Amino acid sequence: MKAANQLTKELKAFAQKQEIDIFGISGVEIINAHARKGRRPMDLYPSAKSVLIFGCGMADPFSRGWVYNGKGGAYFSLTSSELENRKWKLMAFLRKAGYQSFGGEMHGGGMLESGLRMANIAESIGMGYIGKSNLLITDKYGPRQNLHFLATDAPLLPDTGKVENQCGNCRVCQTFCTSGAIMGDGYFHARQCEAVINCSPNKMHHTRYVNTDCDMCLRMCPKGKLQWEKEERQGTWFEKLEKVNKGEDK
Ligand code: SF4
Ligand code: SF4
Repeated sequence: MKAANQLTKELKAFAQKQEIDIFGISGVEIINAHARKGRRPMDLYPSAKSVLIFGCGMADPFSRGWVYNGKGGAYFSLTSSELENRKWKLMAFLRKAGYQSFGGEMHGGGMLESGLRMANIAESIGMGYIGKSNLLITDKYGPRQNLHFLATDAPLLPDTGKVENQCGNCRVCQTFCTSGAIMGDGYFHARQCEAVINCSPNKMHHTRYVNTDCDMCLRMCPKGKLQWEKEERQGTWFEKLEKVNKGEDK
């Protein structure tokens, strides 16, 4: 059996090869200490030693959106389906190495109801920081990524570290927030946001087949090396809002 440091190194290299470029390992202890009783890894997967937190950057605004599956009226997210695919690859890697994996539910249940957000677990192991928008901000994608998780009994070395909050005086997400949910002092009014995103007329693009929610906090955040195309904003009300924000004429 491989030593923990060798297995960790190989798993990270494998993840990179699978285009899982947001990847971190948390020990179960930290999650056990903060999650809801009955929904902790120790309750759900007693032999698990680590929880992998991994993400996919969103390629464009529509990959954040929800696509109609044409059957039961259900929508699925394109980025989520990419993540599901990556999860299977990680599970196969662990299985070949002689270990089990657990959880990884995509649509509720299990650790998703632990009361802990994956973004906060990611922050606690140095994958990024929680911005004023309450989103995980990473060096590569800013807030434009989705996260997923997988628990395993493999002996892996947990990540540690801290990325300092770099929001500074920026108030872009607060200014463009359509519900007033982002208070700017670190407080995030989740219900207020939900009231807007569950209201179809407020969705950015809404057809029978595709809809994307407000997501101005994703679109407008200046952080992240990989930005969605600026061209998308040109000639639209995004551009007008930006001009108003800068005190220019429409
Ligand atoms: S999705 Fe829209 S309403 Fe919700 S926090 Fe982001 S900007 Fe505000
Ligand atoms: S838009 Fe500005 S304030 Fe909001 S999360 Fe991004 S960097 Fe922070």
